[in-house]
Amino acid sequence: MEELYRMVADPSRVKLSGIEEKYVSDHLGRLRGTCDALVFPIRSEEVSAVLKWAYDRSIPVTPRGAGTNLVGSTVPERGGIVLDLSRMNRILELDEQTLTVTVEPGVVLADLQAYVEERGLFYPPDPGEKQATIGGNISTNAGGMRAVKYGVTRDYVRGLTAVLPNGEVIRTGGKVVKDSSGLSLKHLLIGSEGTLGVITECVLKLIPKPTFVLGALVPFADLKTGIDAVIRLIHEKASPTAIEFMERKVVALGEQYMGTFFPFPDAAAYILLSFDGNSDSEVRAHADNARQSVLQSGALDFLPLDDPAVLDQVWKVRGSLVKAVEAVSEQEPVDIVVPIDKTAEFIAYANEVERETGVQLISFGHAGDGNVHLCVVRGERDTEAWQRDLKEVMSRIYGKSQELGGLTSGEHGIGLTKKPYFAKATDPVVLAAMRSVKASLDDRNILNAGKIF
Ligand SMILES: Cc1cc2nc3c(=O)[nH]c(=O)nc-3n(C[C@H](O)[C@H](O)[C@H](O)COP(=O)(O)OP(=O)(O)OC[C@H]3O[C@@H](n4cnc5c(N)ncnc54)[C@H](O)[C@@H]3O)c2cc1C
Repeated sequence: MEELYRMVADPSRVKLSGIEEKYVSDHLGRLRGTCDALVFPIRSEEVSAVLKWAYDRSIPVTPRGAGTNLVGSTVPERGGIVLDLSRMNRILELDEQTLTVTVEPGVVLADLQAYVEERGLFYPPDPGEKQATIGGNISTNAGGMRAVKYGVTRDYVRGLTAVLPNGEVIRTGGKVVKDSSGLSLKHLLIGSEGTLGVITECVLKLIPKPTFVLGALVPFADLKTGIDAVIRLIHEKASPTAIEFMERKVVALGEQYMGTFFPFPDAAAYILLSFDGNSDSEVRAHADNARQSVLQSGALDFLPLDDPAVLDQVWKVRGSLVKAVEAVSEQEPVDIVVPIDKTAEFIAYANEVERETGVQLISFGHAGDGNVHLCVVRGERDTEAWQRDLKEVMSRIYGKSQELGGLTSGEHGIGLTKKPYFAKATDPVVLAAMRSVKASLDDRNILNAGKIF
């Protein structure tokens, strides 16, 4: 491993001992791997040199961004090298002619959003964790709050530079809008959780920044009425940017965690809406259509969040929910996605499982795209009871999502923790095809081996 010192310009960017625990885990910190070396490259050539060296020796390499994933995808199960891309964090070029920005993979999402917005431009993908890196977002095809209107990370990647497991560098896509030029290696890399290549440069699509934004909070007496209202709302001319649903019990945890409160506390569930556009009248017309639609669907009220401070408070509570649940108990996060018209049925089933097993299931998520985040809460259970109950709950809810035509993960990825459910829910022929793509790009199985498939 000492040879790694030769591959980076500054040897202090290689660590062979005293490696902090966080580098062998994910955000949840429950699974731990081991590693023999931690390397912080700052140039594509350094990544290439490290990978070539590791490939020649069949040494495992685990790429890492900010480590905010929730599925164990940065856990170096097989030892070897952890390749931390967070110091490759330069914004290389803003091209206002092609509306693209070229960045290194370690750029933090919040920094990119602030950079482009200061210049009147907009990068729409908006996953909850703003300290994640763009490389991590691309490798997990992160979704987030604005997917209902703008799509997910995949829709904003124009081009990628990546280092293949054997150290070769490829460029795929570019600043172009269209691309029918052979197989899209770019789309293979997106969402591949660091198993096919290490992304070292990203060309991202931008749009002009919407100038008007409006939020609204819609309380409901029960979650089912709320979810049914969403289905109706997406057929109206309301064009919401975000439709987030939350049960009161999780909002209460968020309020406690953030020390701030939602208006209309006497509701069982809420839908949080936002609208954006380029004129005040357009945005207000959309909000008005939404108001009429949800009130007809049984909403208790429609509260426009005109005060920016209240709007900010409400979104902060929404953004804190994963951390708020974790603050009171260990939880297993689930990010099943079902067809949007099956969301209510899926949540009703989750509530049934909660009643029958006594395991608390807290649900919130992106109602506009059927992406349900369930927190399966451990509570006071000892290890044996937790393992037993968790297994039963997981097997039932993943079974139900499959029956409804859903998929294992809408945005977090498979990593290690969702592997058994993914394997069970996926056609063996599809799994075999995925494995053969992996084997053809990584015949020595060094890159994030053991993840996904
Ligand atoms: C509070 C909270 C809220 C969240 N909300 C959302 C949400 O709304 N939507 C959502 O989609 N996710 C969400 N996440 C999950 C997480 O933030 C995302 O998965 C994010 O995309 C991970 O980025 P990262 O930089 O932390 O990557 P990491 O966790 O470091 O890595 C994730 C995966 O990407 C690979 N990887 C990282 N960088 C590279 C690279 N340069 N080249 C190749 N592979 C690489 C890693 O090997 C790993 O497989 C949330 C997480 C938390 C803690």
